[in-house]
Amino acid sequence: MLYSEVASFYSKIEGTTKRLEMTKLLVEMFKHASKEEAAPLAYLTLGKLYPDFLGIELGLGEKLVSRALSRATGASLPEIEAMYKRMGDLGLVASELMKKRGIQMLAPPPEPTLLDVYTVLDRIARSAGGGSQDEKMAWLAGILGPLTPDGAKYLIRTIMGKLRLGVADMTILDALADAYAGGDRSLIERAYNLTSDIGEVAGTLASGGLEALSKVKPQPGKPIRPMLAERLPDPEEVLQKLGGKAALEYKYDGERCQAHLNDGRLTLFSRRLESITSQFPDVVQALTRSLKARSAIVEGEIVGVDPNTGELLPFQQLMHRRRKHGIEEALEEIPTTIFLFDVMYLDDQDLTSVPYLSRRQALEGIVAEGSGVGLATRIIVDNLEDFMKFFDSAISDGCEGVMAKDISGSSVYQAGARGWLWIKYKRDYKSELADTLDLVVVGAFNGRGKRAGTYGALLLAAYDKDKDEFCTVCKLGSGFSDEELSQLPKRLSEAETHEKPARVNSVMKPDVWFEPKFVLEVRGAEITLSPIHTSAFGRIRPEAGLAVRFPRFTGRWRTDKTPEDATTTQELLEMYNSQLKKIS
Ligand code: ATP
Repeated sequence: MLYSEVASFYSKIEGTTKRLEMTKLLVEMFKHASKEEAAPLAYLTLGKLYPDFLGIELGLGEKLVSRALSRATGASLPEIEAMYKRMGDLGLVASELMKKRGIQMLAPPPEPTLLDVYTVLDRIARSAGGGSQDEKMAWLAGILGPLTPDGAKYLIRTIMGKLRLGVADMTILDALADAYAGGDRSLIERAYNLTSDIGEVAGTLASGGLEALSKVKPQPGKPIRPMLAERLPDPEEVLQKLGGKAALEYKYDGERCQAHLNDGRLTLFSRRLESITSQFPDVVQALTRSLKARSAIVEGEIVGVDPNTGELLPFQQLMHRRRKHGIEEALEEIPTTIFLFDVMYLDDQDLTSVPYLSRRQALEGIVAEGSGVGLATRIIVDNLEDFMKFFDSAISDGCEGVMAKDISGSSVYQAGARGWLWIKYKRDYKSELADTLDLVVVGAFNGRGKRAGTYGALLLAAYDKDKDEFCTVCKLGSGFSDEELSQLPKRLSEAETHEKPARVNSVMKPDVWFEPKFVLEVRGAEITLSPIHTSAFGRIRPEAGLAVRFPRFTGRWRTDKTPEDATTTQELLEMYNSQLKKIS
């Protein structure tokens, strides 16, 4: 497949905001690709070269790209700079220059294929530390030279990290299902949830079909998408929902961590699947000592511990440590313990389809508890009295509540899914909205008066999982300190975009739009119906969506969550319904 063919698909995809149409175009594009091309095509369409968890960025700066453009097109650097100033997008500059040059060229060299382009970008990315800037520039100029104007545009946007076609992982999964599996998504989703690697899924599917995909297992080094909990405000309901008998575990208030052990080597991943190995050398050391296995994937919560009292510290203090530069001092100041609560893979065996009680037994079999490593405190309960006693001790031991877990034979590890096999019950369910919401910034309104020069309010959205859209739910203007307010435009600027992003569903028109990226924690008074917000639109009443009343920023940026991890419109519906139950 020629890269110019890919580019012409990108151009059509960019031209639509309709998800169905986008998926159709993606399906057509994948059908055009050979089996070797499916994986690179999946990565490139998401604007990357590898799965995110590898943390490898192309990272080519404006200067180097301009030089490559100059070499490839013969345009001078000042000319390129002037065009860039005018157009604000080096991709467009590249396309314009290529068009001009096209007229002058008599015998253009052969066009690069998708694999040619991927190979060069891969070489540039891998030479990050090694290869000189000049070398990288020359490689880039070489591949740019024979591209079409559209090809050059999308290539330049890709290497500058600005492709932004509005295509998300979930859309690609849909397209893969249609292109290769007759629309059946289940095995595709399973493989994606177990590996977090869309390229691996696309490649395996294209070359070996569903048969090969069904054999995909968790692999140490590739994070498993985390299993998530539902919530209920009433312990009696929790017990009932779990069949009258359940495991209760302390719900630690720290940072979720997936630890991968492979022949003595440990890698730590955060909840949003980024490597946090270098931030927690103490956890690495403690787990290396503690885990008695050749290879394993275990999960737990890292909690800060007060070195003086041995008591667990609140989440914020651990985050503070993460931000500090001198890891060494921080280690002494705030030691940690990781409380393990699950094991999903052990010595070549996939445990995700094994029930909870057997997984817990396997976990206990490989963990030597000691300094820095513990097992999540747990009991099995079948009555309310024991439930509440355990809950009280969790709170007094510095936890934020309990996790109730299904112990039936079907209590598998549901990677990447929020379900009723785990139910969280937290301390602050006193009033309807004592629990906070995690909402995505999609827009902002310019401030007036005291807030001139910054934003007066942000437009926030919840995530609609079924439609893969961000639907607005409130305007947020309170809870910010003056300093936070003044820094908002700068902090949000990297997500700013000229027009409404494809995945945002909004009736309101803010002054500034943002790509869904930043997640803020918000506390609200209640969930109400609203004609101007689009969350769960029409689900309760025609022509009305759900909104959060009196939202306040809690001060916490949920940098540990991706926009897709934000509160969902489905959760808002449940909260709305449970409010009604309480009133009646
Ligand atoms: P979520 O992770 O459910 O999207 P959240 O980040 O707002 O939501 P909580 O509502 O506090 O987190 O609850 C879930 C989190 O609780 C898990 O992601 C995990 O990090 C943490 N946790 C603490 N103790 C346990 C435990 N024993 N079992 C499972 N998760 C636990």
